[in-house]
This record gives sequence, C-alpha cells and structure tokens, in this order.
Amino acid sequence: MYAKSSSTPFYHLLTEGKDLTLCGRSVVPIVIDRPAKTSSLHLTSDRPTDLELCKECARIDQDQASDEILG
Ligand SMILES: [Zn+2]
Repeated sequence: MYAKSSSTPFYHLLTEGKDLTLCGRSVVPIVIDRPAKTSSLHLTSDRPTDLELCKECARIDQDQASDEILG
C-alpha cells in the first residue's frame, strides 16, 4: 500500500497503522486505484509508476532497513 495525491509528483510509503506516511503526513484512509483529482493523500494498492518516491520516505525506509540488519 502506498499514499499519493494529485497535487504533488511524489508518492509516499506508509507506517504500519497506514494512517501516516513515513515522513509524517496524515493519510485519508480510503483506497483509490484509479486516477483521482484530490489534493488529500490517499491510499493506493499499487506502486504509482508515474510518480517519484518521496525523498524523506525513501531515507526513512532505508534507515529502518539498516536498523533491521544491525539488529
Ligand atoms: Zn513521504
């Protein structure tokens, strides 16, 4: 599950509760799998291929992955 909105060219990764992005933005808990014109961050099932991953989310995701390796 990913979060996106039509107002930015980025998509975000989600925390476990799926109500926040990793970078701390709140997400509307609805899934929209077709193009939608909404500036609110909402959920989408598939990785959006037309958008770029948010840099903050990417960094936090990498930090978490390396934490797991280090234990
Ligand atoms: Zn983000």
